[in-house]
Amino acid sequence: MSTTTICPIVEILQDKVERVKFILDKLTELYPDPACALDHRSPFELICATMLSAQCTDAQVNKVTPQLFAKYPDAKALSNADLSELEEVVRSTGFYKNKAKNLVNMAKSLMEYHNGEVPATLDELVKLAGVGRKTANVVLGNAFHMPGMVVDTHVTRLSNRFALVDTEDAVKIEFELMKIIPRERWVDFSHQLILLGREFCSAKKTRCEICAMT
Ligand code: SF4
Repeated sequence: MSTTTICPIVEILQDKVERVKFILDKLTELYPDPACALDHRSPFELICATMLSAQCTDAQVNKVTPQLFAKYPDAKALSNADLSELEEVVRSTGFYKNKAKNLVNMAKSLMEYHNGEVPATLDELVKLAGVGRKTANVVLGNAFHMPGMVVDTHVTRLSNRFALVDTEDAVKIEFELMKIIPRERWVDFSHQLILLGREFCSAKKTRCEICAMT
């Protein structure tokens, strides 16, 4: 088993189909209107914000992006950014040198292959410089309103604790979850697990005694 903590509901609901139904119903009850916490007004803004959110809180990213988008409002501006100036803008999100470089390279990919627009398919998104499946699925689900299963650290942890998967490999988790979660729930399910993880079921501590899942 990849994760030591197992949620008590696994013992109560040993049948996986029943467990999934229970989890989905509870999550909807708890977080009926989950939304992307990264401020954005366009697919371009969301892809940039998501790239900045690696190893950083959404709140901190939201503090940085107004200045970022004022200075670099589109792919053209970002692709021509002076790297050291961009590094200063994104410095507080951590790993700023890599993030600045990835943003510029991603914008160059948009200019070179997509007329400066963010593409709306997973295959095209993951070909952009610096864009992995997680970022691609965030953009698909939240900017284009297409099904995308985002697997971040919270989704990884909770999916294992719910015994829906038995691996820490994000790509394997994504494919496993896509098999058992209805397609129309993919986007919300990711958001809801992230919210549950933050509120009750963190990496350091489970708060089962007050958790709404029990
Ligand atoms: S905190 Fe909630 S979701 Fe996490 S293991 Fe405990 S009951 Fe399950």
